[in-house]
Amino acid sequence: ETRCEIISVGTELLLGQITDTNSAWLSEKLADAGINVFFKQTVGDNYNRLFSVFEKAQSRSNIVFVTGGLGPTDDDLTRDVAASLFNTNLEIDEDTFDTIKSIFKKNNKHMTDNNHKQALKFTNSIVFNNEVGLAPCLHYIHKGVWWFFLPGVPREMKWLVEQKVLPYLNESGLITHQLYSRILTFNNIGESTLETELQDLIREQTNPTIAPLAGNGYVRLRLTSLAQSKEEADDLLNPLEKKILNRVKQYFVGYGDLPLEIQVLEQLKNKHLNLSSCESITGGLFASTIIQHSGASNVFNGSIVSYTDEVKKEIVGVSEDILETHGAISEPCAKAMAENCRNKFKTDLAISFTGIAGTDPVQGFAPGTVFIGVTINNETICKKVELKGDRNAIREGAVTEGLKLLYS
Ligand code: ATP
Ligand code: MG
Repeated sequence: ETRCEIISVGTELLLGQITDTNSAWLSEKLADAGINVFFKQTVGDNYNRLFSVFEKAQSRSNIVFVTGGLGPTDDDLTRDVAASLFNTNLEIDEDTFDTIKSIFKKNNKHMTDNNHKQALKFTNSIVFNNEVGLAPCLHYIHKGVWWFFLPGVPREMKWLVEQKVLPYLNESGLITHQLYSRILTFNNIGESTLETELQDLIREQTNPTIAPLAGNGYVRLRLTSLAQSKEEADDLLNPLEKKILNRVKQYFVGYGDLPLEIQVLEQLKNKHLNLSSCESITGGLFASTIIQHSGASNVFNGSIVSYTDEVKKEIVGVSEDILETHGAISEPCAKAMAENCRNKFKTDLAISFTGIAGTDPVQGFAPGTVFIGVTINNETICKKVELKGDRNAIREGAVTEGLKLLYS
């Protein structure tokens, strides 16, 4: 089992002059790699205190990351302290020294005596070259503990970790697991209701874990598993997803944390299908929701807002018979709206909305009743939904329900 520890070096960190972003970033990277970080410490540029912190790390951890204090100035003590703990010598790494010399030459700068310090390594250490700065990463194994010394400059530290250290740990077999996650998106259910429905699962699960995420009008669950491969992760995630959907499938709208309309647009684009809409109750909200996103014109041709019966008849072409026999709030009317719309716009699909947003019942239907028609390939379906809330909530709910119908 890995027991990792991170040590941030620098008096400025203790004084609060700079914030220790290095260790936060590193923690996240290591967690993603399945490496347990058990301790984090911050220590100033002081020989004795650095020594005792290093000694402690050596005694309780098996991987230690140190950031900072590798520079050329006298207060940069990391190398000296570690060399003394490891009971080893410091020597010039010729490759690094050559690089430093050439950088100074290229920039027409004069090298000072202390610049050679950045080329020092422990005898027998492994040097990971820094291609975005001067100080390389030094790796040294002392009595079974793997030490990595990284420069304090965040950009250089990140580059070395991503490009050199993590691949190295991977190859060495120390990183055996990684995190795989999957996001389930829900609508028309509050975050707390969803959490209540799944409370026992959320509490019991350790691998995979379930984390609710809110925002954007959707509620999402992130399922995360620690696994050795994508296949193993899927084996862990699939049964959990099934358990979750068994309980709350009616609110599930898709994967990923993108808004539903983007997912619909993506899907239609991939299938080379285009879409138009005919809107009564939504009054253009469906079109407006879709065209918020760039690239919508590849998929969406346009919308007719047909609010009165007059317009449904004269402009959309819904037959008088349908309007008289069934009324505007009906399945036949929703279907006719969708079909006529598709014919007018010559699109592959069309969607229609007709219903009641007001406060009083119409044609015997309660407010919130919406018929949504979708026509594709000469087949037309209609879904009747009963939504709750005020006028706007009903209109928004209708749009979401329509998007759900389109999303397959
Ligand atoms: P250099 O070779 O540039 O001197 P170094 O390895 O000696 O690098 P430090 O002198 O400790 O590193 O830090 C260099 C700069 O990097 C600091 O001025 C600070 O801006 C930034 N830095 C150092 N440590 C951290 C940290 N833990 N989190 C965020 N930034 C840091
Ligand atoms: Mg420095």
